[in-house]
Amino acid sequence: MIEFKNVSLVYPNGTKGLKEVNVSIKEGEFVVIVGLSGAGKSTFIRSINRLVSPTSGELNVDEENILRLKGKGLRSLRTKVGMIFQNYNLVKRSTVMKNVIAGRLGHTGTLKSILNLYSKEDMALAYESLKRVNISDKLYNRADELSGGQQQRVSIARVLTQKPKYILADEPVASLDPPTSHQVMKYLKKINKEDGITTIVNLHFIDMAMEYADRIIGMRAGEIVFDGPASEVNEKT
Ligand code: ADP
Ligand code: ADP
Repeated sequence: MIEFKNVSLVYPNGTKGLKEVNVSIKEGEFVVIVGLSGAGKSTFIRSINRLVSPTSGELNVDEENILRLKGKGLRSLRTKVGMIFQNYNLVKRSTVMKNVIAGRLGHTGTLKSILNLYSKEDMALAYESLKRVNISDKLYNRADELSGGQQQRVSIARVLTQKPKYILADEPVASLDPPTSHQVMKYLKKINKEDGITTIVNLHFIDMAMEYADRIIGMRAGEIVFDGPASEVNEKT
């Protein structure tokens, strides 16, 4: 469970990214955050694995206040809370396999990775993850040889190999065309349902949110202005 209690975040230049946010997200939910550009969606999502640090309040992940974490505690938070980005964040010149194994072993610069010292178990897990998103045929391609949709699927496989309890996806389809966007959203939803991984996705298209979300959180100017099932969105907005 993720709990925001009066969470605010003020950026060093004085911009308020989040203003007294109170919300909780339960295990297994598939939540979509919507709002205009600048509404605070990315700040909200990135707070949950401390890519940004709220300046006041309490943010609990599984009953632990993550605002106090550093060092080893932060690393274990980021293993439990996997992240998917708009621009995939793959190591472009590395193979798909190396990129996916990085989900398990850390970044691709580790000695194990440079020397290709992967265990059978690491390889098997990476392969299984790639199969889940239907891209295991690209194992030995370089990441930059793949289309955007394929790269995003590889980044989903990478996050799966780290066996997260939560997945955060920050505008995962913003660089993709509509058919490819739907494909990526379907994989995220399938993994949420099959593995029970609590998933929070930022989107800026409300129609896409309504199609996939169990619950929609609407943000404006750093505040939550709507929170409810997708079916309620039409009535209230
Ligand atoms: P969204 O994801 O909804 O587009 P963001 O969370 O990126 O919104 O931004 C929320 C607000 O915080 C915006 O006003 C944005 O300009 C500001 N902001 C985001 N990142 C920074 C930063 N690093 N420094 C200062 N202001 C920032
Ligand atoms: P998908 O929709 O399945 O993600 P596309 O239909 O966009 O993939 O791509 C079809 C094929 O074209 C893929 O096999 C991919 O390898 C290749 N391809 C697409 N974009 C690029 C690119 N920028 N560089 C190299 N190959 C690409």
